[in-house]
Amino acid sequence: MRYLLIIFLSAALWADNRPIASALNSGTGPTVVVDAGHGGNDQGAKAKNPYCEEKRICLQTARLVKKYLDQLGYHVVMTRNSDAFVPLSRRVEIAKQADAELFVSIHFNSSRVPTASGIEIFFYDSKQEKRRTSASKRLADSILTRVLRRTQAHSRGVKKGNLYVIRETTMPAVLLEGGFISNPADRANLKSVEYQDKIARGVADGVDYYFRKLKGR
Ligand SMILES: [Zn+2]
Repeated sequence: MRYLLIIFLSAALWADNRPIASALNSGTGPTVVVDAGHGGNDQGAKAKNPYCEEKRICLQTARLVKKYLDQLGYHVVMTRNSDAFVPLSRRVEIAKQADAELFVSIHFNSSRVPTASGIEIFFYDSKQEKRRTSASKRLADSILTRVLRRTQAHSRGVKKGNLYVIRETTMPAVLLEGGFISNPADRANLKSVEYQDKIARGVADGVDYYFRKLKGR
């Protein structure tokens, strides 16, 4: 079906002589894996009053990221698109099988310190895979800058993290911690679709900027 679509679009482009960029609107651009953290029995961070589960915010935000990346023409693969438990090893396998060019994992934070707040993003610092490490860091910078621009949140910076999904994947990979479920002010923001939308637009902008300006460096 996808091949038919590509043939159809190619024909349409040839007929119209439109710029190549519009071919990207079909979602035939580079493959990006969007990984919504947790799911199913694994609820992730939780808080009461108002009640909040990390797994839910991850999925809602990841779906919005997909929406904006789709609009920009990327081919998006989700590691989950329902409230299902997906083992970390399976998430990595999905990315490898999709031959993805980037992997972006969406999580939210929690701390015993209730005042801890803000947004941080992790990449894996591999001594063996220097190119992947530097690409991951550039992607992390690009995404964090644009998420902060949209949300006006406090920056906790770009950090090195030894986390399974960003360590075991083979393409540039980052893990976003988009705010603290344990912080009442952050949590109130995170529960609103408007705020999730700001995060998602920032992530999509960051991915797009990476492909347009940073990838080849
Ligand atoms: Zn998490």
